[in-house]
Amino acid sequence: MTSTVRPGEAGYDEERAGFQAAVEHRPDVIYVAESAGDVQAAVEFAAANRLPLAVKATGHGTSVAASGGVLVSTRRMTGVHVDKEAHTASFEAGTRWDQVIEACAPHGLAPLSGSAPHVGAVGYTLGGGLGLLSRGYGFAADSVRGIEVVTPDGGAHHVTAASEPDLFWALRGGRDNFGAVTGLEVDLVPVARLYGGALSFPGDRAQSIMDTYLSWTRTVPEQMASSLALARFPDLPAIPEPLRGKHVAQVRVAYSGDAGDGAELLAPLRAAGPRLLDTARDMPYAESGTVHNDPTEPVAAYSTNVLLSTVDSGAVLERTSPPEAQVPFIAEIRHLGGALARPPAEPSAVGHRNASYLLALVTPLDPSADVDAVGSAHERVHDGQRRWVLGRSLNFMSGPAASVERVREAYEPEDYRRLQRLKARYDPENMFRFNHNIPPAGA
Ligand SMILES: Cc1cc2nc3c(=O)[nH]c(=O)nc-3n(C[C@H](O)[C@H](O)[C@H](O)COP(=O)(O)OP(=O)(O)OC[C@H]3O[C@@H](n4cnc5c(N)ncnc54)[C@H](O)[C@@H]3O)c2cc1C
Repeated sequence: MTSTVRPGEAGYDEERAGFQAAVEHRPDVIYVAESAGDVQAAVEFAAANRLPLAVKATGHGTSVAASGGVLVSTRRMTGVHVDKEAHTASFEAGTRWDQVIEACAPHGLAPLSGSAPHVGAVGYTLGGGLGLLSRGYGFAADSVRGIEVVTPDGGAHHVTAASEPDLFWALRGGRDNFGAVTGLEVDLVPVARLYGGALSFPGDRAQSIMDTYLSWTRTVPEQMASSLALARFPDLPAIPEPLRGKHVAQVRVAYSGDAGDGAELLAPLRAAGPRLLDTARDMPYAESGTVHNDPTEPVAAYSTNVLLSTVDSGAVLERTSPPEAQVPFIAEIRHLGGALARPPAEPSAVGHRNASYLLALVTPLDPSADVDAVGSAHERVHDGQRRWVLGRSLNFMSGPAASVERVREAYEPEDYRRLQRLKARYDPENMFRFNHNIPPAGA
């Protein structure tokens, strides 16, 4: 019997909470799923009662709050199976990347995971998935071989490129607009180690570090993933002493080739000036989360992004720094290109593959924050890049920022129209609407 919790019952608050604390789900009922059958029971119940339905694994990407309706909590569904001969992994809906990475490591294999190992592998992958190995191997969505999904009519499908090409295309990029995924099978890559870490420079040198960094990205091989973050670190014991309370320009690198070559490739960055801290080293892929050191405790945040053909570094710096910046920003420029720009073996809905950079902005939201003012401040920064903007990345918008308009910009216009037509076919009543929503065609 599937277990459920309702408002006022023990476990309700714990089950609806997640990493993104700016959006609070308050469903009428939570299905605490332990199996694909439980997920199917939840979807059947929502369909029978014409209720909206939301899915949550870790809550890293929550966008629209479930106000009433059904929430499926998948965090107990964490089974992982690695086929070391076929170089594939199958995992259940609530599995985090660290659980997949751990299962793959003994075989010298890795999934196309991202900067934060505690992110959910299904939500990440179906939102595109831009990670530490993506320049070498492509979007995580392109690594998908098979999808177990319960569609809004309650039907359970095993979806592959051959069995249901439209649904296979739409789920990879359109995510929970087309159903609740209960499991994925993905290709793995032969990566056991990285040369990676973060080079932290004083913030007052940010302009020159950004310029050095951007020139350097034009020279590096595809196995080199990197990003540059501008952030003021809090003055807290959890932060390494040299960075505490300081404004920092931090270059994060992950090289999946030979460690000696990795160190050599970093030489021009290290020559850019003294570092407050330099953590780049040879490491097992299982330690890849130490490259970005993303927070692990829940935060309320407003997250937006733009995908760019090139970056105007002066405009980023000026518009994210006081006195120009009207709100605090953590700004990150991620280097894309390489395999990300090549057509995948099986087409997917993931858009803007020709982008060379992602500019992602995060603003922590305290309870008194004026969310509209934060939104305007973000758009002012993005507007500084308007000549180079190609679109947006679904995965890097969360919290109240994920409007229907911004979601539309994650896709090529023709793909968006196809997604809307498929939404009308699979989810005509927009049951899956507490999400990065694609309204059905004609709605
Ligand atoms: C600290 C941090 C670091 C990040 N780093 C990266 C990165 O390096 N690269 C990158 O590409 N992204 C990154 N992300 C974004 C992340 O990939 C997305 O937020 C992703 O959607 C998180 O999925 P989740 O399941 O953990 O979160 P959830 O909030 O639980 O889910 C997010 C969305 O995915 C949907 N979803 C989850 N499970 C299912 C399912 N079983 N079936 C259908 N839909 C489902 C949910 O409905 C929801 O809309 C990062 C986010 C954070 C907060």
